[in-house]
Amino acid sequence: MAQTETCDVLVIGSGAGALTSAVTCAKAGLKVLVTEKAGQFGGTTATSGGVLWVPGSRHAKALGARLGVQDDGNLVRAYLRHETGNCYDEARIEAYLEHAPRMVDYLEDHTEVKFYPMEFPDYHPETEGGSRIRSVGTMDYDAGKMGELMKTLKGELPQTLFLGLAIGSTLEMKQFLAAGRSPMAMAYVIRRMARHFMDLALKGSSQRIVRGRALIARLARTAHDLGVPFWLNAPAQRLIREGDRVAGAEILRDGKPVRVLARHAVVLGAGGFPRDKDRRARQYPGHARTMEPVTPAPVTNVGDGIRMAEEVGAQFNADLLQPAAWLPTSRLPGAVDQNGVWPHLTDRNKPGFIMVLPDGRRFANESAPYHDLVPAMLDAFERRGADRAFLIGDDRAIRRWGMGFVRPFPIPKGRYLRNGYLTRAATPEALARKLGIDAEALAQTIRDFSRHAAEGRDPEFHRGESAYDRYQGDENHGPNPALGPLDKGPYFAVRIYPGEIGTYKGLKTDEHSRVIGQGGQPIAGLYAAGNDQSNVFGGSYPGAGATIGPAVTFGWIAARDIARQAGREVPGGA
Ligand SMILES: Cc1cc2nc3c(=O)[nH]c(=O)nc-3n(C[C@H](O)[C@H](O)[C@H](O)COP(=O)(O)OP(=O)(O)OC[C@H]3O[C@@H](n4cnc5c(N)ncnc54)[C@H](O)[C@@H]3O)c2cc1C
Repeated sequence: MAQTETCDVLVIGSGAGALTSAVTCAKAGLKVLVTEKAGQFGGTTATSGGVLWVPGSRHAKALGARLGVQDDGNLVRAYLRHETGNCYDEARIEAYLEHAPRMVDYLEDHTEVKFYPMEFPDYHPETEGGSRIRSVGTMDYDAGKMGELMKTLKGELPQTLFLGLAIGSTLEMKQFLAAGRSPMAMAYVIRRMARHFMDLALKGSSQRIVRGRALIARLARTAHDLGVPFWLNAPAQRLIREGDRVAGAEILRDGKPVRVLARHAVVLGAGGFPRDKDRRARQYPGHARTMEPVTPAPVTNVGDGIRMAEEVGAQFNADLLQPAAWLPTSRLPGAVDQNGVWPHLTDRNKPGFIMVLPDGRRFANESAPYHDLVPAMLDAFERRGADRAFLIGDDRAIRRWGMGFVRPFPIPKGRYLRNGYLTRAATPEALARKLGIDAEALAQTIRDFSRHAAEGRDPEFHRGESAYDRYQGDENHGPNPALGPLDKGPYFAVRIYPGEIGTYKGLKTDEHSRVIGQGGQPIAGLYAAGNDQSNVFGGSYPGAGATIGPAVTFGWIAARDIARQAGREVPGGA
């Protein structure tokens, strides 16, 4: 006979969506239990940038006033109509536009969560309604405030640390990359590293928690202060039904099944299906359908939330522009999990890098947003009969920016050459021959690209024309921050995969985050947040923070609806 536990709200998963629901329900006085499959809490969110796309937030308004940038709901709607095309979900988008800024106010005023404004171009800033003030970042958090919780807070992806230090915001990253050329940046880095080494000497670990990990830490601190227990190594296995309502879940805890009955609701926040090979095979296009996942998403995100909901009659929404939030990735030979995968967010868009297929030709604007680059790659694979792509850089580029796992000079790159992650050759032709790329074509591609790059233009793919491309480039490089010739051998290459930061297709939910059943009605007692929900932006990626913004907002919305149904005071007001 399985043990039985009772709570008001059972939250499955411990990423941003799940923990926001947990905290907000607990604030409404509900008895909440969080159950997490992994041994540490935080999910993909803990390894993320911790950026949220929240048009109209108090921070966006203040930043807009400072920069003289106007923004309003109609501009955002116009922008989203362009971004989402036929997948514009009016009810949920309206809920998002209304509640995302309120969520920011609520979390900042009632929990440990704090944000800061970011001047960051939307991903298509030249599109009607595009802007550059809509993203917010999560403020760093002090490990000293976490106490025992620190032991089970998920760490950063280790490969993204620099001598054990997690680099914080995009702006801080720019300081690190500029340190070799700017005395001010170097002074910043020295101060930062000195504090880091002091922490290591005195406390044994860095005391500054940054980005997505700070968001999780802040939510977890609040949850624990409110008495919310976290069960770890405790996967939910199936939902429990009572009549036509979901009444809890069966959880495997310490190897034993436990029936957890939830009086009011179950919230699914199990992080979508980036590691579910069967569903990928059904839902992904082209080569991505059959390849091994090469994703920085955790190995635990195998689609449990979606599967469990489907078992009780939930609808899966496959009608989106894209099945996933795409990300070009690379992988160390022999890698078995997310720690062997590199998210190519900031190197490919720098001067001196291009991407090619085995035919030696480029296939896209390498500085395009990650969500645009991968579909272009998959499309080029289909059209040109390829199954691989390569990031190629010259000696100057790799020394200056690094290349995936390979760090900028003076960090040695020998181990990556030895283990086969990185390939080096004196000339483009020799590099091509080592990799099975058409040598003549690659040499010609590099000559053509470099000639135009020196003039600051890319007639083939228009790289460097968007403000987004230039923002991601090198602000000190001219005439175009996104374009630089590849003319200083030796030349280097890394194989690139069509990966993802998370999935977009997911459970059909309404504007209250209620999971919709086959009959088109909400399933009583069942909510979803984060990537278990199908993406509110119809599978597009409007700007920085376009998955965590919705995760947190719809987690908050779910909790408010649960509180309302339970007859409690609704957090954040009616
Ligand atoms: C390097 C990187 C940077 C990123 N930066 C950003 C960014 O700045 N902004 C942005 O918007 N997006 C970003 N993303 C994407 C973003 O991190 C994810 O889309 C988002 O965090 C997903 O949140 P979630 O709550 O749905 O799931 P997760 O945060 O993945 O949490 C899901 C949790 O559920 C657990 N789980 C799974 N199955 C079960 C089960 N059966 N029972 C119990 N628990 C279960 C998992 O173990 C996991 O801990 C980034 C991603 C990466 C990899």
